[in-house]
Amino acid sequence: MKMKKELLKAILESAKSAYPYEFVALLTGEKGIISELVFLPSISGEESALIHLEMLPLGLRVYGTVHSHPSPCCEPSEEDFFLFTKFGKVHVIVCYPFTMKDWKCFDSNGEEIKLELV
Ligand SMILES: [Zn+2]
Repeated sequence: MKMKKELLKAILESAKSAYPYEFVALLTGEKGIISELVFLPSISGEESALIHLEMLPLGLRVYGTVHSHPSPCCEPSEEDFFLFTKFGKVHVIVCYPFTMKDWKCFDSNGEEIKLELV
């Protein structure tokens, strides 16, 4: 699985503008390359943002999720592990201060994986 570098920049920008709140979106794209975000109405809680499943566009190819942490910790929380099992295989977390280094990627089991930027 690969992700467009431009998309990571867009994610970091969105995370910055959402700060101090969490930003959450789904990752989509084609041919194994994550290239787009799908923003969904969400309810921001203390630790996590809930996604309204019924709001998903039909036929959407969901590769995974992305969300931000307003703290300098990119490790998944308990809620995040639950989210990871619900959507796709690739889960990106970006954390404060949202530079090109402040992100990590996990699989559905919460194991850290490498995501190649293209
Ligand atoms: Zn989280």
